[in-house]
Amino acid sequence: MECPNCRTAVLVNDQFCEECGTSLTAVGCEKCGAQPEAIDNEGFCSVCGFRKEVLERLEITIDSRLAGVSDRGLRHHRNEDYLALQTVNNNTHILIVCDGVSSSSNPHIAAQTATESASTALIAAIKQKENPESAIKSAVAAALSSLCNIPCTKSINDEPPSTTIVAAVVQQNTATIGWLGDSRAYWISDNNSRQLTKDDSWLSEVVAAGEMTQVQAKQSPQANAITRWLGADAIDDAIPSIINFTIPSSGYLLLCSDGLWNYAPQPQQLANLIQQTSHTNAITICRSLIEFARHSGGHDNITVALLSL
Ligand SMILES: [Zn+2]
Ligand SMILES: [Zn+2]
Repeated sequence: MECPNCRTAVLVNDQFCEECGTSLTAVGCEKCGAQPEAIDNEGFCSVCGFRKEVLERLEITIDSRLAGVSDRGLRHHRNEDYLALQTVNNNTHILIVCDGVSSSSNPHIAAQTATESASTALIAAIKQKENPESAIKSAVAAALSSLCNIPCTKSINDEPPSTTIVAAVVQQNTATIGWLGDSRAYWISDNNSRQLTKDDSWLSEVVAAGEMTQVQAKQSPQANAITRWLGADAIDDAIPSIINFTIPSSGYLLLCSDGLWNYAPQPQQLANLIQQTSHTNAITICRSLIEFARHSGGHDNITVALLSL
């Protein structure tokens, strides 16, 4: 056997060419590991249905009240965020945002896989009348087990495919939100906006423990490091934090990745941005929040999901 790139002799089981570093394995399905022959002409895996694609932007509109956008931003070469939205039984709304951990292997597949399996599991649980809190917990468990089935295509030393997740179930006047990592949920309304999730991040933990002020902690290079996530290396700590929020008035439930909130962390800043759009259509508001993050620098992938209530 030889390396397809530099023609150096390699062993059958080698993952990489020792001479030039070319991967010798990543040609079949990245998700289920099927052989290259399993990939059809349109790029779909005939075994598991996965299609590798470099997504610039994903837009989902359920109706005028529920929509979301995920955008690559300006600095990253691919989008490692993903989202899913659904309305079940006409009265229950589901929103999920995942942000692949960029230091892990295949973060873009991690985010998409976790989002899709969490969404499928959540919809099934809601249809079976499971309560929202336990539905979110089972959805996160389902997402974790499908993450554990993604083969690592880099090297054995890489962190396994990992992602943050924030998932919301809205029924009547209650929003139940579960999360791991630093993707956030906010309640946005005229005079009562607030952040609903607490980041699982180094910064948030040292500030909460009173070890440092917000300003001091922000100086640290590890300020934004997340302390909890969904991945095969964090199985023992994969139970999401959950809050039940009673919706107090009309307003918006906003889920987003750090690609948005880094530029507008305060609830009131996000409220002002939404107010400035002077639109009430969910997809229009999402697009304008994405534009705001891109104009602010677009350093990261940006994902926004919005439910108008
Ligand atoms: Zn080579
Ligand atoms: Zn496959």
